[in-house]
Amino acid sequence: MKKTLMRKYARLAVQSGVNLQKGQGCIINASVEQHEFAEMVAEEAYRAGAKWVTVEWGDQALNRLKYRHETITQLSRVEEWEKTRMQFYADTLPARISIASGAPDGMKGINPAKMQKSRMSRGTAMKPLQDAMANKYQWTILAVPSKAWAKKVFPQERTSAAVEKLWNAILQTVHVTEDNDPVAAWEAHDRELEAKAQVLTDLDLDYLHYESPNGTDFKVWLIPGSKWIGGGEALADGTYFNPNMPTEEVFNTPWRGKCEGKLVSTKPLSVQGTLVEKFAITFQDGKAVSVEADQGQEQLERLITMGEGACMLGEVAMVPVSSPISQSGILFYNTLFDENAACHVALGRGFRENIPGYRDMTDEQLREKGVNDALIHVDFMIGSPDLNVTGYTRDGKEVAVIRNGNWAI
Ligand code: ZN
Repeated sequence: MKKTLMRKYARLAVQSGVNLQKGQGCIINASVEQHEFAEMVAEEAYRAGAKWVTVEWGDQALNRLKYRHETITQLSRVEEWEKTRMQFYADTLPARISIASGAPDGMKGINPAKMQKSRMSRGTAMKPLQDAMANKYQWTILAVPSKAWAKKVFPQERTSAAVEKLWNAILQTVHVTEDNDPVAAWEAHDRELEAKAQVLTDLDLDYLHYESPNGTDFKVWLIPGSKWIGGGEALADGTYFNPNMPTEEVFNTPWRGKCEGKLVSTKPLSVQGTLVEKFAITFQDGKAVSVEADQGQEQLERLITMGEGACMLGEVAMVPVSSPISQSGILFYNTLFDENAACHVALGRGFRENIPGYRDMTDEQLREKGVNDALIHVDFMIGSPDLNVTGYTRDGKEVAVIRNGNWAI
C-alpha cells in the first residue's frame, strides 16, 4: 500500500479516531507485523501533541505458544506490575488506539477450556479498573491487513495481492482516498448516523420484532427512556471520538433479561481467534438457553458461560444491507467490518451511554435500570436482505424499522 495513503489513515486514527488532546498520553496496541503502520500512528500522535506514546506489541504466534505451554494457573495470573500499569492508565486516562490485524482463525486448535478459564480470571481481576475508566477516555479500534487475514479473505490471490486488496477494501470503508479529506468525510458521516439515531429515539419503542425466512423470530424489549446512538461518542468535557472505524451502525442497549425467541446468524463469527459458523441462539426469559453451530459449537457454548451476564444481550444494532461495507460483497471475517455490513446484536456487557444521565449513575443504578453487565461483549450478525424488523411503540403503534434488510424509516 502507498505510504501516503497509510500516513493519511494513521493521521485519521489520531484525529477522528481518538481525537488526541495536547499533553495526553497515547497507547497503541499493534501486532509486530504492523510495525510500519504503528510507527506512523505514533508519529502522528506526537505531532498532535501527545506527551508520551507507548506501543503494546502483540503477536498471534507468541500468543499460541503461551496458551500451548503455560498452565491454566499461570495463564490466569494478573501480576502486580500489570495492575500498577492499569492503575496508571486509570489515573492519567491516555487515549488508546487498537490496530486489529490478527487472522480470524489464528488461535484454531488451542484448547478452548484453557482460553475461557484464563480469560475469565484475568477479566475478573482487571474489571474494576476497567469499569473505573469506562466512558472517561477516548479509544478507537481500526484495522490493517496481516498476511494471514488477507489470505483468509482473498484465498485465490497470491499473498502480496491479497494484502493489497484487503488494504484497498479497508481504506474504502474508512473514507480514505487519494484526494479527499477523510476527517471532513467522517464528520459528515457521523452527523448522518446521529440523525438516524434520533429518529429511532423519537419513536420511543417498547420492543422490536425480528423476522426472517432463515428461522430468525425474535423479540427484544428496550429500556424506557434509552436513546439510540450512531456515529461517535463524547466525553464529559465534549471531546468527540469514534470508537470504531469503520462504523455504519445505530445501536441501543437492550433491557437486561427481556428477550424471547431465536436468532440465526448470517455471517461467520471469529470468537477469540476461532471461527464459529452457521449458528443459531435461542433465548428464553432474556437468556440464551441453547446454541447450535455447524462449526465452533464448543466455543459458542463456552462464550455464553463466561460468567454472569454472558448469556444475555448487551446490544441491538441496525445496519442496512445498503451500507457500503455490505455492498462491497466482501466477507471480512472480522467483526469490526462484518458487524457494519449487517444488523447485529451482542452477547454480554451493555452500554451505559444509551441511558440519559448515565454519568451521574453508579454501576448498580445502571444495572437496576436494565443495562446488562458481563466480562464479554461479542457481536454477531443477523442481518440479511430478507430480514424485517418491526418496532412497537409504548403507545401501541406498529412501525416498520427494517424491511428486506434496509431502513424503512
Ligand atoms: Zn455494534
